[in-house]
Amino acid sequence: MLARHHDPIVAIATAPGRGAVGIVRVSGKAIAPLVERLCGKALKPREATYLPFKAADGQAIDQGLALYFPAPHSYTGEDVLELQAHGGPVVLQLLLARCLEAAQAQADSGTPLLPGLRLAEPGEFTERAFLNDKIDLAQAEAIADLIDASTEAAARSASRSLTGAFSQEVHRLRDALVHLRMLVEATLDFPEEEIDFLQKADAYGQLDQLRATVQAVMQRTRQGALLREGIKVVIAGQPNAGKSSLLNALAGAELAIVTPIAGTTRDKVTQTIQIEGVPLHVIDTAGLRESSDEVERIGIARAWEEIAAADAVLFLHDLTRMAQADYAQADREIAATLQQQLPATVPVLQVWNKADALTPDEAHRQSAEAAAQFSTPAAAAAAGDQAPLVLSAKTGAGLDTLRQQLLAMAGWQPAAEGTYIARARHVQALQQVEEHLDIAHAQLHVDSPALDLLAEELRLAQQSLNAITGEFTSDDLLGVIFSSFCIGK
Ligand code: GDP
Ligand code: ZN
Repeated sequence: MLARHHDPIVAIATAPGRGAVGIVRVSGKAIAPLVERLCGKALKPREATYLPFKAADGQAIDQGLALYFPAPHSYTGEDVLELQAHGGPVVLQLLLARCLEAAQAQADSGTPLLPGLRLAEPGEFTERAFLNDKIDLAQAEAIADLIDASTEAAARSASRSLTGAFSQEVHRLRDALVHLRMLVEATLDFPEEEIDFLQKADAYGQLDQLRATVQAVMQRTRQGALLREGIKVVIAGQPNAGKSSLLNALAGAELAIVTPIAGTTRDKVTQTIQIEGVPLHVIDTAGLRESSDEVERIGIARAWEEIAAADAVLFLHDLTRMAQADYAQADREIAATLQQQLPATVPVLQVWNKADALTPDEAHRQSAEAAAQFSTPAAAAAAGDQAPLVLSAKTGAGLDTLRQQLLAMAGWQPAAEGTYIARARHVQALQQVEEHLDIAHAQLHVDSPALDLLAEELRLAQQSLNAITGEFTSDDLLGVIFSSFCIGK
């Protein structure tokens, strides 16, 4: 490992701003002499000592608790000193400066710390915990996710990952994979009886079992990634369909500008809404129509860019105008462009707005007629005999159904009990595992399997799996992951 992973570091560990208590944390190898210099005496391990924190000139900065955790029983696995003072920004800055100064004095006095104490980079304490095997990479990520969690569901799931629920699944997978690899590699040494041997040892059954487990873990991991990352939903439609009103109704706040003048939402407005704890990033766009206004055209071009990058599209129609031939025609043109531009994997939800302006009977009849024009055979099959989604952004009628359909569209499964938080990175790694196992499976089922190729695929599968918990993860990836932490964590 790099030298920077061993030098002593210091940071304010609590959030910026005022608080009742603030913590300055030092971590490094053999920091006991520094602890003594800072605190004026040696500290008993893992016991809180109340004492004055003094500046170099002997003046008190503050008083508070000092806690010393000698390696390896600390957060980072190194010696850790925590100074708990009053949580004002000035006090904590002074205390931080005092730590740096004391370390310098320590070095000058001829008992140097190796090398000098320096300010910690974002996530560096947690990075050390990872490098010293206190936690694995998925757990380290869960710490950041727990800190960043914006919903209760996300926090609960992050905490499950932190305690290792996700890592345990990955480890169980790895153990099964290692077992299978041992079988296959053993046969490489005895080529005469290889197939017999694999059959007797039920390598076929083990591989099938492994693939099924990967599937199941991937399913839960997808849910976990969804909780953390959410999906991007773009509201598209003609000007005045009620896109901004709908976004506001979903968000419960006046965000997008709603006006009766067509073409007013010229730039995008994004709002993250939570549905059952799942974050949906909903984007309101400029109304899609032919326009000679230069500014509006830019807005429309941008709307199409947003649509191209969406995970799902909500196509909003003005139900009160569907009977007008030119309006319906313009909607059909948008539908055609959507179908042309979007990959088949991006769902388009047809939504009929302004139901309040019609009688329930009219709304029912109009929406059934209109929906028939916009449904693709695939969408019709998926919808079954579900009624068209009719709502009113104005009154809120139908919004609950919309929320449920948005969740379903995102791929959320309500009964995802025991979900742990996960990242897109984890889902991708599991997909790679699955691909290698698929190739391995195909290899095993030909008449005379090439066992060296099979062994290689299993090795690659294990490598992808290891990337999740951080065994053999590149320094580059570690850098990216840990630098997204806040300083002091
Ligand atoms: P956008 O251009 O698609 O963003 O549409 P807006 O949200 O700005 O709405 C255009 C007009 O339609 C405004 O006058 C809204 O008050 C009106 N409107 C939006 N939703 C509804 C609805 O559900 N019912 C009725 N009656 N009017 C609506
Ligand atoms: Zn608008």
